[in-house]
Amino acid sequence: MHRLLFVMLVCLSALAVSQQKNPADELPKLQRLSAGQVNPQIDPCADFYQYACSKFFAANPIPPDQAAWGVAGPLLKWNEVVMRQSLEAAAAKKQGRTAVEQKIGDYWSSCMDESKVETVSARAFQAELKRIDDLKLKSQLVDQIAHQHLTIGGAWLVDDNATFSPMFGFSALQDYDDAQKTVGQFDQGGFALPGRDFYLNDDPKSVEVRKKYVAHIANMLKLAGESQAQATADAAVVLQMETDLARSAMDVVKRRDPKNINNKLTLAEIQKLAPSFDWQRYLTLVHAPAQPSFLVTSPDFFRGLEQAIQNQPLEHWKIYLKWQLVHDSAPYLGKTFVNENFAFFAHTLLGTPELAPRWRRCVHSADNALGEALGQAYVARAFPPESKERVLRIVKAIEGALDQDIRGLDWMTPETKKQASTKLHAILDKIGYPDKWRDYSALEIKPDNYLENVHRATAFEFDRWVQKIGKPINRYDWTMSPPTINAYYDPQFNTINFPAGILQPPFFSSDADDATNFGAEGSVIGHEITHGFDDQGRKFDDKGNLHDWWTAEDAKNYDERGKCISDEYTQEIPEAGVKQNGLLTQGEDTADNGGIYLALIGLENTLRQQGKTLDSKGDDGLTELQRFFLSFANNWCEELRPEIMRTVVLTNPHSLPKYRVNNTIANMPEFARAFGCAKGKPLVHENACRVW
Ligand SMILES: [Zn+2]
Repeated sequence: MHRLLFVMLVCLSALAVSQQKNPADELPKLQRLSAGQVNPQIDPCADFYQYACSKFFAANPIPPDQAAWGVAGPLLKWNEVVMRQSLEAAAAKKQGRTAVEQKIGDYWSSCMDESKVETVSARAFQAELKRIDDLKLKSQLVDQIAHQHLTIGGAWLVDDNATFSPMFGFSALQDYDDAQKTVGQFDQGGFALPGRDFYLNDDPKSVEVRKKYVAHIANMLKLAGESQAQATADAAVVLQMETDLARSAMDVVKRRDPKNINNKLTLAEIQKLAPSFDWQRYLTLVHAPAQPSFLVTSPDFFRGLEQAIQNQPLEHWKIYLKWQLVHDSAPYLGKTFVNENFAFFAHTLLGTPELAPRWRRCVHSADNALGEALGQAYVARAFPPESKERVLRIVKAIEGALDQDIRGLDWMTPETKKQASTKLHAILDKIGYPDKWRDYSALEIKPDNYLENVHRATAFEFDRWVQKIGKPINRYDWTMSPPTINAYYDPQFNTINFPAGILQPPFFSSDADDATNFGAEGSVIGHEITHGFDDQGRKFDDKGNLHDWWTAEDAKNYDERGKCISDEYTQEIPEAGVKQNGLLTQGEDTADNGGIYLALIGLENTLRQQGKTLDSKGDDGLTELQRFFLSFANNWCEELRPEIMRTVVLTNPHSLPKYRVNNTIANMPEFARAFGCAKGKPLVHENACRVW
């Protein structure tokens, strides 16, 4: 379980910028906040988001091959070009390649060679289809599921809603009751739309999306060799089966409470829960170490799965598996598969008009498969030791701010304060990149078969997860690659994790002043630290155990404050045509609100040491406080297409960027002071919420 900073648009959208003549030669300039960026036509007290961002939006429309675009856009382009240059150099080198260069270079070659993808990879895909055609007995489903998990499914990749791998997910996780132990976890999954509501809601928009989804499934099955009539009939079977799985799945809000997913079952109990599937055989096939018990996130889901295995004939399961196989393989196959996959999952669901050029898709594919190999060159180029030192100073200032904040709280008893402080001091700060790079020597990469490289990379990564089961924990392991523009808090490891990718302008600049860096990167650092103390994170102790360290009275006080936030963010989102559920976004909203407060306290303390105050004026005519708030808002200058907005509001625990700015600052008297906002203005909330 990881609490992320961003919506993870990077994975969802088909990434691309407008075509450049020779992108490898052009490193875009990394921008950071400037005072001239504000729009003086807009009242900052009425809409600070537009005040800070509208000039940027006017000058930077969303490119046609993007679902969303913001100030991180130039950084994304920059990161991609840096990665591309490393990949090309490794691919072109004729002699004396290191093991890392061989892997990233050959992976790149196999992805960029489209003619081989159309022939060699296509043959490998036909062999996969044949495996499914050859299934004769329902009891063979277990072998096929294990095979798909080991080659293409991504069974360890947990989303907020479910895993997207066929039938269910399997991964390794810290035992909720004893974070020193790593256990195996069976999770709900097996459906391809972004959340269970997509299958179950019956408003006109949801019905329309499902209609298009069924047409898409049929198109994909046709590409896999079925006749139109067969594909149409089979697509209806797939929707029915996925709907059944979605109906059994736990709702995304209920899933946010770790107590609801902490279900420990022995293998015998799992076998009793879903007797039609040979769970021991599955574990053997994926080489999972023997364990006395496993986590089962939602037993109801596995009850539903049992019904589905019993009720659906083998022929239906073969159709389902075939669809899952085509769907998972499509990005690594020829043009027709790629285009059809894009048309539904990026265009219909997210609103992206155009597919990204191949080189950008290959950069992200290589980053996914070989992140810590490719990331080494990125770090050498983009994240010098001086930057790491300065970021660490900001981190320490913000941790000090939370310590100060906890000590001053009027709603918490000394007993709970002591526990909170212990947890804070136990956080491990991971900045930039791993101390020890992942060893990829067991992973074979060849230059001429892209799909098989993806299969082997999937098997390598799945095995890396499965082999953690029963072994000592490693808090130093990362789940994001160094060039990733994102960050996360891990409640069971009690770590904050900041890849070098987000420690760049506009988030962090080694030549920027403190107000700018604290407003941008500092508020993000504060956000991640606050996750350790949000409605989810507060349930874990300093060691990462799911253990209640709150007195009943303090917990009640916390819940009241949390409810203020969830009520405030339960709001109509007219631009997306849906309503936000503040209970789904409560953790992220709490982190946004706490994050900026902690950054502000950290900045004030840092300035004091320099003989300055928040009201000191800089050369740009802004006070430190004004620059701080503008730099914070600048983080979130991001526009989204309506389709992706709807998908995000319905399924994602993050609020949309506009509300991450306006709702947050409207809770802060310091904001009103900075911009002279009188009582009664839209961004001066009368009932201001504050947790941290
Ligand atoms: Zn977050």
